[in-house]
Amino acid sequence: MTAETFRGNFTQQEPIPEEGIEAAIAVLRHGRLHRYNTSKDEIAETALLEQEFAALVGAKYCLAVASGGYALGCALRALQVGHNEPVLTNAFTLAPVPGAIAACGARPVFVDVTADLTLDIKHLEVQARASGARLLMLSHMRGHVCDMDALMDMCVRLGITVIEDCAHTMGGAWGDVASGRHGAIGCYSTQTYKHINAGEGGFLVSDDAELMARAILLSGSYMLYSRHLAAPEPEVFARIRLDVPNVSGRMDNLRAAILRPQLKLLPQRVARWAELYRALEQGLADTPGLTLTLRSSQETFVGSSFQFLLNGWSAARVGLFVSRALARGVELKWFGAPDPVAFTSRYDHWQYADPTPLPQTDRILSGLIDMRVPLTFTPEDCALIARIIRQEVLIVGQGAEPATLSVPLIQ
Ligand SMILES: *Cc1c(COP(=O)(O)O)cnc(C)c1O
Repeated sequence: MTAETFRGNFTQQEPIPEEGIEAAIAVLRHGRLHRYNTSKDEIAETALLEQEFAALVGAKYCLAVASGGYALGCALRALQVGHNEPVLTNAFTLAPVPGAIAACGARPVFVDVTADLTLDIKHLEVQARASGARLLMLSHMRGHVCDMDALMDMCVRLGITVIEDCAHTMGGAWGDVASGRHGAIGCYSTQTYKHINAGEGGFLVSDDAELMARAILLSGSYMLYSRHLAAPEPEVFARIRLDVPNVSGRMDNLRAAILRPQLKLLPQRVARWAELYRALEQGLADTPGLTLTLRSSQETFVGSSFQFLLNGWSAARVGLFVSRALARGVELKWFGAPDPVAFTSRYDHWQYADPTPLPQTDRILSGLIDMRVPLTFTPEDCALIARIIRQEVLIVGQGAEPATLSVPLIQ
């Protein structure tokens, strides 16, 4: 019997819904793409999108911006982060997170990851006390959410303000609170690989009037903040409007038009991702050598990606496994590779942040395998992918130690 191969595309998203295409064409036809370029009595698509997103997550205020990374930087500036100020963040996250901290002239202080791929709350306390940081940029990396009740208790106790990076948790929740609604500010991305797709884009949400007024002024509102629908009252702006610099990073009406119909589809997408995730999880259960991550019963997660651990495997063995899976059409990313490949950079690659070694994180990331799960996949596709991974884990895990390290180049 010949080995099965998967022929799907791990980076192919679904098309934009017809309603979004129609709305985008309408914006192109009238030409008023800038969010403050409205005709008499017209409400901009961007302002409507903000109102709808605020309602979706149950926030008082929302601001749409140019990218998820911009949202993170804007949140830090709204909190008036100082030059060289320490900002706690996850050692396991994506490069734009420490990048946003560094771009503000602040200094990332990395916190360990646990075997469940969440922030290590005990290590957070250690790093918080050692650095004296007053800010935590908490990244729900790959949709894994730490115990938010325990985390928020600790942050209140230590006087730490939390910014949530919800790039992978839009549509998710902890208990009955939407992801992004525990901290002072929640940030989201609408980049193509996230849960709603405008190419680029992002949101900030908050219930704090002054923070949101600062964020709106920062984003480049040219004193036209009264055209927002999910913004604080003008009096809040009046107090600070001349004290906040313009760091332009607005969203435009074309992207907002594409996103509005997708917001309505989000609950449906979360349910479809859950089905794909379950197919992978079932297909990989009880595979010797492979460890699945535990999810808390409190967590409503979005299965837009899938992770597992090959604990204790040598780099050569993991490299061989990833190469063999790729030869059968299964594109996996490995967070333990010596050099960053595509999206898999690691805290110790971020040399500008002068990272201190974190042995626990190193051990976990050395065997961490990550996979995208686009909604163009079916549950049958996921079952096939799981069969291939399972077979290759058994073959490579039980075979002889490979002589050389082969690192497959996946884009
Ligand atoms: C994608 C991503 C971001 C940033 O989003 P962009 O819209 O690409 O700037 C931030 N954090 C994480 C964990 C991400 O994956």
